[in-house]
Amino acid sequence: MRFFNTLGHRVEEFKPIEEGKVGMYTCGPTVYNFAHIGNFRAYLFEDILRRTLEYHGCKVTQVMNLTDVDDKTIRDSRAANLPLTVFTRKYKDAFFEDLKTLRIEPAEHYPEATTHIPEMIQLIQNLMDKGIAYQSGDGSIYFSIAKFPAYGQLAKIDMTQQRIGERINSDEYAKDSVADFALWKAWDEKDGDVKWDSPWGPGRPGWHIECSAMSQKYLGKTFDIHTGGIDNMFPHHEDEIAQSEAANGCKFVNYWLHCEHLTVNRQKMSKSLGNFYTMRDLLEKGWSGAEIRWVLIGTHYRSKLNFDIASLDQSRSALKKFADLFRRLDAVAEGDGGLAEAQERAAQAKAKFGAAFGEDLNVAEALAELFKFTKDVKSALAKNLYQKKAAAVILDQYRDFDRILAALDVDAALAQKQDQQAEQSDVPADVLALVQKRVGAKIAKDFATADAIRDELKAQGWIIEDSPAGPRVIKA
Ligand code: AMP
Ligand code: ZN
Repeated sequence: MRFFNTLGHRVEEFKPIEEGKVGMYTCGPTVYNFAHIGNFRAYLFEDILRRTLEYHGCKVTQVMNLTDVDDKTIRDSRAANLPLTVFTRKYKDAFFEDLKTLRIEPAEHYPEATTHIPEMIQLIQNLMDKGIAYQSGDGSIYFSIAKFPAYGQLAKIDMTQQRIGERINSDEYAKDSVADFALWKAWDEKDGDVKWDSPWGPGRPGWHIECSAMSQKYLGKTFDIHTGGIDNMFPHHEDEIAQSEAANGCKFVNYWLHCEHLTVNRQKMSKSLGNFYTMRDLLEKGWSGAEIRWVLIGTHYRSKLNFDIASLDQSRSALKKFADLFRRLDAVAEGDGGLAEAQERAAQAKAKFGAAFGEDLNVAEALAELFKFTKDVKSALAKNLYQKKAAAVILDQYRDFDRILAALDVDAALAQKQDQQAEQSDVPADVLALVQKRVGAKIAKDFATADAIRDELKAQGWIIEDSPAGPRVIKA
């Protein structure tokens, strides 16, 4: 496998520290609100990366932190008049629900900032002992950028152009300002009752230190992959590198992968611009997790993806066509006709698909192979080339694609067919025959006949509903 490493700005061969095993850290959500689908584009990119590593035989240990204390969580919990833990609980629960809806494979660890304060204090103490951190007049502890000459390596910042020595206390600061950043923030009244004791007095950790402390705890001082959205790269990830490498004296992370933004009308989807959709917004409008997933994974992670509702329409129609094909494959006659050919075509598709994802997650090429394979399958079906055993091999190959895509849902499509057959068993045979005749008319694009049959059925007291699993008739 090869991935684009932000550290070094080039595609590099991926070599894990321990063969066959990958340690991966993912910056998780700040739980002060429902995550929007821009955030989920980042988590889905990480899911595709994880599934690709697994597809290629690696065992992945993934850590995703939950930022449940920072400027924003404190501000909004106080505005809501709720204790911090009660306030953030609701958004943590919603986040895990959304991950499930989007079929994002669970990480091995979801450490929360508020339950790892001692680890953060220990890391800050280490930086104090080494003279890299210092205490300011208000009691806060800062990281001294001047003491870490390698600062700027990830974001490629020219340190000679920077005014070193300024201090920034807020968790997120402007993209172009290089400043000593807070490791520990001394308590002030804006924090209300949110505070922990420390060797430097009561206060709370800064945002950046949590990822350094928690990644080290679960993955060790040096690990394989660190991911996030592109806006996390600076200052957040640069600061993580500075803290960890200054404290531990060894390389922090070997491969940094960042995904581009999801945009709306070419602007970044963000809470502050108000141009966002949450999963709740889209589920309420009737879109499914698979349909949303299909849109968000379909563009290469290093390209911007402009989101609109029309793309969900296309996603619905694409997934429906797959479901129809799976049911057609399931309906072929018994026998082993076409078996060798199907096996050969499936093996070829698997190799191309896996290689495409292994080449810096080249989803365009992987999907091109999926569609080419599908075209070949349809043409084989049209020629009646495949019997049951061959069709089973083909269906298994679609299940195999879904180890990464997780959207095609072969078995759900087949189950739907069985449900439908059971449900339709009490419909009179002559009514079903008319329904079948209408299917034939529609395939032949004879819409006048199809409409006439619909009217005739209606006159007999039956209503036809066209569903993704094919037509169903219900009593009027
Ligand atoms: P936050 O909760 O703001 O820290 O963001 C969580 C994750 O979502 C981070 O990895 C961000 O980089 C990422 N993110 C935020 N907005 C977008 C967006 N519009 N498109 C893609 N990723 C985003
Ligand atoms: Zn982080």
